[in-house]
Amino acid sequence: MIQIYETDSPEETFNLAKELGEKAILGEIICLDGDLGVGKTVFTQGFAAGLGITEPVTSPTFTILEEHTEGRMPLYHFDVYRIADIDEMDEIGYEDCFFGIGVCLVEWAVYIKEIIPKEAIWVKIEKDLKKGFDHRKITITKE
Ligand code: ADP
Ligand code: MG
Repeated sequence: MIQIYETDSPEETFNLAKELGEKAILGEIICLDGDLGVGKTVFTQGFAAGLGITEPVTSPTFTILEEHTEGRMPLYHFDVYRIADIDEMDEIGYEDCFFGIGVCLVEWAVYIKEIIPKEAIWVKIEKDLKKGFDHRKITITKE
């Protein structure tokens, strides 16, 4: 199933993701795809808000994984931009997150495609400068 959304501000992207966070189910893995600065972290922040997380959510660039346990279920926020080798995912125990008791959000998931389960939801965020600097096309693909 493919759903396409268009947003024209960070708030709109936040709110779209918040709705998805409110509806999120246990075991969900959301893969965020899109260039630097396109809005993957904004999306994550909205999703986290939808789960009931109020603490700040930033890109865990230097740690790969940031865990938020404050919401109605744990959120495992990965940013694998700086991953050098897939073994690093084993070292941080990603399987306990992917197949655990929460939901996962993975920024730059294309870098670890070989370990992403086929049931994962892909969220592709793209700019279209012809439609304005803050315009984003958000394509959500589920199996
Ligand atoms: P990424 O995590 O993909 O590198 P960020 O979420 O950190 O990107 O940053 C996205 C930037 O784009 C923010 O500065 C945000 O304010 C801005 N922005 C502008 N328009 C939008 C939009 N429609 N949706 C999301 N972010 C937007
Ligand atoms: Mg980011």
